[in-house]
Amino acid sequence: MQKGLKPLLDIQELDIKMIRLMRVKKQRQGELKQIESLRTELKEQLQLKEEEIKEIESQVNGLEEKIQTLTDKYKKFESQQASVKKVEEFNALTHEMTTVEREKVALETQISNIFDRKVAEEEILEKIKESLAASETNSIELEKEIKLSIDHINTEGQHLKAERDQIVGNAEPDSLKIYERLLRNKKDRVIVPIENRTCSGCHIALTLQHENLVRKGEAVVFCEHCSRIHFWQESEVVDGTAVQTRRRRRRTVKA
Ligand SMILES: [Zn+2]
Repeated sequence: MQKGLKPLLDIQELDIKMIRLMRVKKQRQGELKQIESLRTELKEQLQLKEEEIKEIESQVNGLEEKIQTLTDKYKKFESQQASVKKVEEFNALTHEMTTVEREKVALETQISNIFDRKVAEEEILEKIKESLAASETNSIELEKEIKLSIDHINTEGQHLKAERDQIVGNAEPDSLKIYERLLRNKKDRVIVPIENRTCSGCHIALTLQHENLVRKGEAVVFCEHCSRIHFWQESEVVDGTAVQTRRRRRRTVKA
């Protein structure tokens, strides 16, 4: 292996852990936001409903005032009628009074309809209040749990950072810069082994020439397809790939 890569590989393992940790943290924060936005939405609904009901009440008040005016008018006509002498005048006033009476009935029907609507709206308001209360009690535990888990993530992140700070000095600064730029780009492992003459980052086949260059370990070799840095995995690791690598090498030696 190119000697500069070893410290970078250790740093990479910590960085990958950190990336995963931050992904989980983001998820948790998203869950918190969702709970909060649900609550905000219910509160907004509640406020709107209360405003609607207030509006209905003011409509009722307006109509009641109109009815009162009509009642006064009716009484005025009634007292006028008591003092008129001519039949035509009496009849004219009766006609006026009938009209006023009819207007009053129409307004009363209107009020009664509005009242029905108000009752229906108030029922909805109650339901919103219930949902809000339920969501608040239910989410308190959940929120506590999520916040606690975010605290844990932060602590773990601090440990990872401290660990990284301790070993980052082992890396050669220029290689570290290249590695960090690649990592920012890929958010994934960027120093990867060659497996079965294939880049284990992008899984595209490599040439024998490329593989040999990496095996020599004299220079940093980038994958020509995904720009990751390649290293030659020594076969202490007992997994399928490593065994295969060893076998192939033995064959090569025999030949
Ligand atoms: Zn690649």
